Formats: sequence, structure tokens, C-alpha cells
Amino acid sequence: MIDLNDIKKHYDGRPAAVFGLGVSGMSSTVALLESGFDVLVWDDREDQREKAKDYGAKIHDLTSDMPKDTAFLVLAPGVPLTHPAPHPVVKKAQSLGIEILSDIELLHRAKPDTKTIGITGTNGKSTTTALIGHILKQAGKTVEVGGNLGLPALAFNDVGDDGIYVIELSSYQLDLCPTFKPDISILLNITPDHLDRHGGIDGYAKAKSRIFGNGNTAICSIDDQYCKNILADAASAKKISISLTDIGAEIFVKDNILFDGDQKVELQSIPNLKGAHNHQNIMAAYAACRAAGLSVQEIEDGLHSFPGLEHRQKAVRTIDGITFVNDSKATNDEATAKALSSFHNIYWIAGGQAKGPKYPESAKYFDRIRHAYLIGEGADDLATECEKYNVANTHSKILHAAVFKAYEDALADIKQNKTDKAVVLLSPACASWDQFNNFEQRGQVFIECVNYLPNKLPNK
Ligand code: ADP
Repeated sequence: MIDLNDIKKHYDGRPAAVFGLGVSGMSSTVALLESGFDVLVWDDREDQREKAKDYGAKIHDLTSDMPKDTAFLVLAPGVPLTHPAPHPVVKKAQSLGIEILSDIELLHRAKPDTKTIGITGTNGKSTTTALIGHILKQAGKTVEVGGNLGLPALAFNDVGDDGIYVIELSSYQLDLCPTFKPDISILLNITPDHLDRHGGIDGYAKAKSRIFGNGNTAICSIDDQYCKNILADAASAKKISISLTDIGAEIFVKDNILFDGDQKVELQSIPNLKGAHNHQNIMAAYAACRAAGLSVQEIEDGLHSFPGLEHRQKAVRTIDGITFVNDSKATNDEATAKALSSFHNIYWIAGGQAKGPKYPESAKYFDRIRHAYLIGEGADDLATECEKYNVANTHSKILHAAVFKAYEDALADIKQNKTDKAVVLLSPACASWDQFNNFEQRGQVFIECVNYLPNKLPNK
């Protein structure tokens, strides 16, 4: 837990306000209480309010009545700051001149001298954050990893003078960090996403650009025009461009090799970071860890031992030459296309609550699929798409049936020498809510089915 006593000294007994009591809001409440703040809280959910009260906070309807002497408002990143319209609590704080910030900004103010690495982008944030944390830990650094991923910032431990905070930052959190700029900042990519909350792509790109500046080190892809422009305009002391296509970038990948001046890193043999998108994540992690003082060898060791993130193209097991890959996090067409592009001889499990009837990005890789097993509400539309591209498919309805049938088919194909290797890939291109609580539970069921193999197929 981060000690906020130094911050408290600036506020002379004034109360702090916390609006939105999710994981980060609740941990902010606890950290503020532990440091002696009076904490006023509100959340629309009564059970969350009661929980905060049990910790010692005061329930206070901040929207209708925010005390004038409130020190600052810690706003949950899910609450609209500007678009589609500022939440009433935001307007209230603004009308009183009360500063609005995030738990990450408080971490920075409490620990201004601790080195930070921040990661943002539309895709790949969690993978890159976890990867950097892993490499640094393997190299013997004291590290805390979290922010938008996993541990909230104020639940971090003190990492001492040589330690590093590795922080995933969403665009919403960046909007709530008025002074925090990570010492080493990464912007991975920008594609249209969450546009309603930022008033369009320009607002979204502007939020992302806030990660750079104040003389920090900027690591940025130049493979999309938004990122390229942001890097060009960044007020950072050091700029490191990364690219999957442009050999003019400081760090680039060509033919599965990362080039950094005279240094080369072979990427093909890294087990848990397959696909071009992961090469982008690797370049960013490499650049950040070099900037943090690691040797190329230390980074290579960490890349090879990285276990991968659960539910994101994570190899579960290999049985009889068949590798089972859990990519349950892929809840849309684009994410699934990334997974399909990373493998061959695929027995594809897809479906769930569909975002639309078409799968144009995934279809680009349908020639890699040997058979599709379709589940959930989206199965019929997926079957239509498969037929359009001559992909053999089975309406498996539920995940268990899909896993067992995919295994049987792959095994039969291997035995008949139709293929020597196979990948059973759960990459649903759909949300999970029609049959599961969330993508994590869907992935967990897949893992359990896979662990049940090969002994007892249910229909034998
Ligand atoms: P985020 O935290 O930004 O949502 P994740 O690391 O959790 O990203 O990855 C989510 C999905 O996005 C992955 O399953 C993968 O399909 C895709 N992905 C990962 N890295 C990248 C990248 N650099 N560019 C594009 N897509 C990516």
C-alpha cells in the first residue's frame, strides 16, 4: 500500500473524495484512510458504498453536495470526464475548482522520485506491461506491475530507490493524470476505439499523446499515422521509434529478427509471443528495458521465459502433436484475425455473443483453418461466413463439445498424415456473455476441457 502522508501535509486536514468504488476506487479509499485522510465516497451501488463505509469512509452523495474544501476528487476511469457529456460529479467538482485526478496521479505525487514505465495504446497494453514486468523481475529488479491491469496503483508496495513501477494506462486514466508522465513512456498503436468517450478519434489520440512530454523517453510505433504524428510532436527528451515495416525506425523487425543498430534479437524461437502484433509488443518492451539499463542478454532471457498472459493466445498444452491455444480474450473480429495470422493447420473454436454478422479481418486467414467448431449465439452467422470461404464447420453449440470434437478431428488428420501438426485455437471473435460470466471463465472452461484430454472423450 502506498503511503500518502506526504500528500496529506499539503491539504491541512481537508477531506478527499472518491467517486466510483471499483477495484481502483476502493483501493484509493483504503490508501487515503490509512494515511489519515477523511474520505467521502459515492458509488451508485449500495453494496460498494457499504463496503467503503466498513473500511472507515463516509458515504456522501458527492454529486449533489461536495464540500467546498475537498482536497481533490479521485474519479474512477469509467466515469465520463468530457464525453459524451461530463458526469454531474465532474461538473460539480469543476464548479468548485476542485482538482480531479486518478489513483495513478496520486502514486506519482506520493513517489515522485521512483522510476516509472508507462504503457498505452489501443491494443497490446496488458501483454507489453506484463512482459516488461517479467523481464525486469528476471533481471533482478524490484518491480510492481499494475494500473489498468491487475493491481491498482495505490495497492503497490514501496519499491525503494532502485525499484520501478510498470503501469498500464488507459486513455481514460491518462485524462486523469494532470502532471504524471512516466519516465519511460510507450505508445503502441492507435486504432479507432472508445471514440464516444473522447469525442472522436482526435480526442482519443490526444488522450494517448499525454503519455509523452516533460523530458521523458518516448517509445512509439510509427506504423500508424496517429502515432507517427504524436511522436513527431512529443516534447520528450529522447524519442525511440519502433516499426514492423519501416527499416528507417530506430528499432524494427524484419524476417523475425529485431534490429537495434548493431544489435540483433532472433524472435522466431520465443515460445509465447507469436505473431506480428506481439513483435510490436516485444520491440516496445525491448526499448523500455534497454532504457531502464538492462543488457540485451537479460532482455532475451526474459523474452524466452515469458509465460504469456492468460487467455491471450496462451498455449495450454500439447498432446499428440496438437497444441491447444486459449485466446478467449479475443472478443472481436480484429483480435481473432491476429490469432489466426499467428498459426497454421488451425482447428478453430469460435462464436458467442456476436458484435455483428461479418468477420472480414478473420476471413483473410480462413485458408489456415482446417475445420471450424461454432458455439453460442453467433454460430449461425459464422457458419454462413465459413461456407462463403469453403471452410468446413460443425455446429458444436457448446464449448465442451467443440474442444472434444476438435481434438478427435485433429488426431484423425495427424494419424492419416493429412497434417503433421495441429493447433486447436479458441479465439471466439465474440463476447462470452451468452454462455459465460466473462472471457476469463470461458478460457477457464477451455483449459479444464483440455486438461481432461486425451483419456476420456465423453462419447467413448
Ligand atoms: P489490451 O490490454 O490493450 O487490451 P492485450 O495485451 O490484453 O491488450 O491483448 C488483447 C488482444 O489484442 C490480444 O489477444 C491480441 O489479439 C491483440 N493484440 C495484442 N497486442 C497487439 C498489438 N501490439 N497490436 C494489435 N493487436 C494486439
